[in-house]
Amino acid sequence: MSEKCEKCGGGLAEGSITSMYGVFFYLNETMGKLKSKRSAIVCSCCKKCGHLQDFKVKELEKLQ
Ligand SMILES: [Zn+2]
Repeated sequence: MSEKCEKCGGGLAEGSITSMYGVFFYLNETMGKLKSKRSAIVCSCCKKCGHLQDFKVKELEKLQ
């Protein structure tokens, strides 16, 4: 994970993309199936300009 904002060079804060029920990344091939593979999403936010970057799935092992 990079340590500086790719836009302005400001410091980053790590966070998650979420809603009340959670937002997940789903593998297309498992969408709609009983055991769909999904993971929460995390990313970093620039504390200076608000740019979001470093999007990653949180639980990579769940997509295997
Ligand atoms: Zn920035």
